[in-house]
This record gives sequence, C-alpha cells and structure tokens, in this order.
Amino acid sequence: MGLRAPGPEAPVIARMKDGEHPQTGLPSAMGMPRAELTRILYEHAVRAGAHVKFGRRVVDLINHEDSVEVILEADSAGRYDLLIGADGIHSTVRSAMGIESGPERTGMGIWRAFVSRPAEVECTELYYGGPCYIAGYTPTGHDSMYAFLVSDAQDHFEMRPDDAAQLVIEQSRGYGGPWEQVRADLTAGAAQVNYTWFTKHVVPGQWNRGRAVIIGDAAHSCPPTIAQELPRAWRMRWC
Ligand SMILES: Cc1cc2nc3c(=O)[nH]c(=O)nc-3n(C[C@H](O)[C@H](O)[C@H](O)COP(=O)(O)OP(=O)(O)OC[C@H]3O[C@@H](n4cnc5c(N)ncnc54)[C@H](O)[C@@H]3O)c2cc1C
Repeated sequence: MGLRAPGPEAPVIARMKDGEHPQTGLPSAMGMPRAELTRILYEHAVRAGAHVKFGRRVVDLINHEDSVEVILEADSAGRYDLLIGADGIHSTVRSAMGIESGPERTGMGIWRAFVSRPAEVECTELYYGGPCYIAGYTPTGHDSMYAFLVSDAQDHFEMRPDDAAQLVIEQSRGYGGPWEQVRADLTAGAAQVNYTWFTKHVVPGQWNRGRAVIIGDAAHSCPPTIAQELPRAWRMRWC
C-alpha cells in the first residue's frame, strides 16, 4: 500500500509492504471485481458438494425444537439443522429472526468506478486530505483498477450517469498523479460511477435465535475507511 499527498504532483509519501502468506507466498490483500469473487466462491461451494439455488428469496423462518424451517416467498423450503444468514448488510434473515437493529449512516459517502490502470499503479494507494476525506485506487487486473473518492454523504442516488461522472471529476480535481487517468476515463465515458453511503452496525447480544444464526455484514459491519474513521473535528483539521 502507498500513501500519496494531494496536489497536482501527488507525491508518494509512504510505502508499506503487504505481508505474504507464509506457506503459499500469496499476497495478504488484493483487489478483484465482486463478480469474480462470487464465481470463485460458487465453484468451490459446488465442488464441496453444495446445492446452489438461485432466485429463492428467504422471507421468514420458524424455529422448531429440533430444526429450523425456512420460508421462501412462495412456500416452505423445508426443515434444516441450522440456518446461516450470510445475506449482507440488509439481511432478511436478521429481520426474520426478530432483530431490529441495522445499519446506521456514518455521514460519509463513496464514489466508486472501474477504470483503466496506468502503468505506474502497482498497489493500492490512498490520498488523505485535500477536498475529500480519501481518494484512492486498488489494482483489480493488469489493465484495470477500482478508484474511489470519499466525501460527505449526499443524496446522489437519482443522478444521471453523466452528471455523476462530472461531479466525481470536479470533486477529485485536487488529486493528481494516476487520478488524471481516472478523470480521463470518466470524461471519455469509459467508466460508470457508483455511489453509496458508509454505514456501520453491530447486532447487540447473541447473533443466533435458536437454530438460525447471522454472520458477516448481516451481524456486523464497519465503514471501509481502513481504520481511519476520525472524529469530525479531526477530519476537518486533517483536510
Ligand atoms: C463502499 C464499500 C467498500 C468496501 N471495501 C472493502 C474492501 O476494500 N475490502 C474489504 O475486505 N471489504 C470491503 N468492504 C466490506 C465488504 O464488502 C463486506 O464486509 C463484505 O462484502 C461482507 O460480506 P458478506 O458475505 O457478509 O455480505 P455480502 O458481501 O453483502 O454478501 C451477501 C450476499 O447475500 C446475497 N443475498 C442477500 N439476500 C439474500 C437472500 N434472501 N437469499 C439469497 N442470497 C441473498 C446478496 O446478493 C449477496 O451476494 C466494503 C464495503 C463497502 C460498503
């Protein structure tokens, strides 16, 4: 991982070496498109003997003494020893378990885009300060990277794609170096931007109700600020 300062030259101010897996030598962190991760998980699950069914939405569950019954939109999916809700931040298994807590906004929002990767980008780099809280990118392939810009949360959800791209171009002007290429891709219409708010939550108490249990973001999530969620007063000073 590298750290750069804002400004037209975007000087590299620090480089930190990622650890490697002691046996395989594989890197401890990498970027990839989510669809690739899903494909890899799917293939391994099938190879391990799992039966995967798509388009079956869980809407409710009933805990019996010796089993848990899973209710889908149309009918019951049968009784099982255990139901694991790994269905993300807006988990329906969580609500079916009667747990009312859920994600809370942190006040930050993030623009994200898949763009082309300039040759000089060899690792994740973060720019702290400048007009936004964080600007950065992570390589996702030989020619691609994932660029992101974190600023105050706004209601940008209904923006037209062109207007959204233009806003990212304007908001990112304080960041030079490889961000020039990000702006070039957005200007050429070669990348689409996505916007979401940062949220956080931890389900208090137990993460199971009988034989139903939640894991992952369904149970806990933190904003992806890489341990840099500063109090607001600090953030203002930082910028
Ligand atoms: C802006 C942003 C940036 C992030 N950046 C990073 C990062 O750089 N590195 C990192 O490690 N983490 C990052 N995270 C966090 C990471 O994405 C999550 O912690 C992680 O994806 C949680 O995994 P999960 O399997 O619990 O949930 P998810 O990844 O949300 O997966 C849940 C899955 O369940 C499926 N699903 C939902 N409901 C049902 C249903 N009823 N039936 C069947 N399937 C269902 C969904 O389609 C989804 O595929 C980021 C998060 C955000 C918001």
